[in-house]
Amino acid sequence: MSLIVKNTTFPKLFDLIAPHSCRGCGRIGDILCNRCKNYIINQHQSFCPQCKNLTHAGYCPNCSELPPIFVASERVGLIDNLIHDYKYSSLRSLAKPLAEILNNCLPTIKTPVIVVPLPTISSHLRERGFDHMSLIAKHLTRLHDNWQLQKLLFRTNNTVQVGSNKGQRESQAVKAYITNSKISINPIATYLLIDDVWTTGASMKSAIKKLQQAGATNIIVGILAVSRI
Ligand SMILES: [Zn+2]
Ligand SMILES: [Zn+2]
Repeated sequence: MSLIVKNTTFPKLFDLIAPHSCRGCGRIGDILCNRCKNYIINQHQSFCPQCKNLTHAGYCPNCSELPPIFVASERVGLIDNLIHDYKYSSLRSLAKPLAEILNNCLPTIKTPVIVVPLPTISSHLRERGFDHMSLIAKHLTRLHDNWQLQKLLFRTNNTVQVGSNKGQRESQAVKAYITNSKISINPIATYLLIDDVWTTGASMKSAIKKLQQAGATNIIVGILAVSRI
């Protein structure tokens, strides 16, 4: 008789056999210890991902076309390594601390919040075996009573952005998403679009446009890490 073990039981089983060591300092215990997590959180500075100027309440004085954008960290050192390990080594247990880091840069929102992760292209989903931004979104919603996850955006093609030039990326990105027509927009909710990194911003700007076209009026953006140069 074969023993059938549900896939979801593996992480817990694995944790018992091989406890994590912190990706920042090596201390045995959590995959990111509180000290290293708080170090990233304390380095936070609010800046515009597009022009790098300081922002106030997410707004940039130079980029009035953009909704409020909240950046958790400059894309350097530990956070950059964490995002890389999370995506490319499929270290799913980093989803929770990364969600906590992102949560820390977000404002207090009084309305219900719909968290919308930017979708990943299907070839990457297959390679990695999981949807990295959906998992972060799931952890983010667990931190608040009136927040929920909705996969409102879908990818329309499999174009890989890495390596394409800026012009190509922008034209690809405009056509990159469609909205899920089965979900209706809640007029009183705040739509929080989240992504891990911002490079040209073309994907995020396309996603913002799509949500606006679907009727969302209260949109804010949360990004984990943005290069400052
Ligand atoms: Zn540590
Ligand atoms: Zn700006």
